Amino acid sequence: MSEKCIFCKIADKEISSSIVYEDPEIVAFNDINPQAPVHIIIIPRKHIPRVMDLEENDAALIGKLFIVAKKLAKEKEIEDGYRLVINCNPGAGQSVFHIHLHLLGGRKFTWPPG
Ligand code: 5GP
Ligand code: ZN
Repeated sequence: MSEKCIFCKIADKEISSSIVYEDPEIVAFNDINPQAPVHIIIIPRKHIPRVMDLEENDAALIGKLFIVAKKLAKEKEIEDGYRLVINCNPGAGQSVFHIHLHLLGGRKFTWPPG
């Protein structure tokens, strides 16, 4: 079998990280290189590389990423304005190929994004 990806290793606690939420399906941890005062990475434990690799039966699991994001936004007191981002493929800035939702907050955001 090929080498586990970095986010699978974080989920399995083979690499240390600052985990802020976990349940049997989802793990959330602080980004190592935060782009905002709150920058949390939310992942499914299931290794799905990209949005493009999603299958119909992943719909409920992916929905849970957003439910966790909503709860964390409340817990971190950033509900007045936060951004949820999923980069898909290197052209959009994806650098880790295990699907993840960025939760960013605690500062002003501009539009269009960079
Ligand atoms: P992407 O660029 O793929 O959308 O996002 C990957 C994110 O994962 C980046 O924001 C990057 O800082 C974060 N990241 C990469 N490696 C690690 C790591 O080992 N630990 C943590 N906590 N975050 C990581
Ligand atoms: Zn993985």
